[in-house]
Amino acid sequence: MPNIVVLGSTGSIGRAALEVAAGLGSEYRVVAISARDSVDLLAEQAHRFHPRYACVADEVAAQRLRQKLRHLAGTEVLVDGGERLAELPEADVVVAAMVGAAGLGPALAAVKAGKRLALANKEALVMAGHLVMGEARRRGAEIVPVDSEHSAIYQALLAGRRSEVEHVTLTASGGPFYRCSAEELSRVTAAQALEHPTWKMGPKVTIDSATLMNKALEVIEASWLFGLEAEQIKILIHPQSIVHSMVTFVDGSTIAQLGTPDMQTPIQYALTSPARRKGLAAALDLGSVGRLTFEEPDLERFPALRLGFAVARAKGTSGAVLNAANEVAVAAFRAGRLAFSDIVTVVERTLNRHTPLPEPDLPTVLAADRWAREEAEKCLTPNTCS
Ligand code: MG
Repeated sequence: MPNIVVLGSTGSIGRAALEVAAGLGSEYRVVAISARDSVDLLAEQAHRFHPRYACVADEVAAQRLRQKLRHLAGTEVLVDGGERLAELPEADVVVAAMVGAAGLGPALAAVKAGKRLALANKEALVMAGHLVMGEARRRGAEIVPVDSEHSAIYQALLAGRRSEVEHVTLTASGGPFYRCSAEELSRVTAAQALEHPTWKMGPKVTIDSATLMNKALEVIEASWLFGLEAEQIKILIHPQSIVHSMVTFVDGSTIAQLGTPDMQTPIQYALTSPARRKGLAAALDLGSVGRLTFEEPDLERFPALRLGFAVARAKGTSGAVLNAANEVAVAAFRAGRLAFSDIVTVVERTLNRHTPLPEPDLPTVLAADRWAREEAEKCLTPNTCS
């Protein structure tokens, strides 16, 4: 009976992971859940799944959670225990669904403890891919991606040997503004950027999808996860989000994974693979989809993609810097302090001021993250950052 830990259980991926676990039946048991401060939803989840641990980020939230769980026996409330939960002796699978840089510590802890890591948090690999992959190799820990594109590549790779891979193609919906002119892009509001045409996701990922920074992060994620050179990763705009990604082998065969745009499918595969189980998502009906279209991405209007490839080449601390600067810029955009089209400009300016350090250890990665946050904050006002 596999025991599952869901870190970030109140976010969009975390909620879907709990539905998948429930759908798989009593064979799968949720032993721990965590959230930053969404106490009400976490308490509801605790009452439904009876985990051994429910964890929040600080003592204030913990007080409220203890109050709400006072009649629930057998669930212990923890504070800031993401790493402890990731290495719980009884855990088999750790779903890392927290948003942002906070996901790195628990993801590293899970692979160090030899757990299967169902990885939804991109930042862990973007910031410290060499550390996470290195630990996973040393401890024999499996990393099964939850990101739909990477899940597709993971599945397609089973059709051949690693040495037979020519390149992979990440598909991108293009987000809501793919047809907008540069001038229109400069006037996009936060409310508009929070509406995604095909995927239902949390606010940070939705805005990253609109700037295509999400795809840039995915390029870096793919390079670490599958050991690919930047030159072996291609992107195609595919607005229908049906082909989740593909692998082209040296003989010219391309193997793709297709499905409805529903995160429950890749989440479930990360829990059950290599087995497949009846899923909650509706099966794909290509006849009703009708047409699938693909086109080359426009790197001029969406320069985030260029940055993604540059970082996949530069490696070292540059991933941590790109990620941190983007988090600062997205927060400033959501607060009305930055224009939509300046999000990527701020990230690029911050990256330009950074000299990547090769093979960084964890303290060096975290120092680069802190440095980038301060620099990006300065770069929000153009004249303080040239
Ligand atoms: Mg994705």
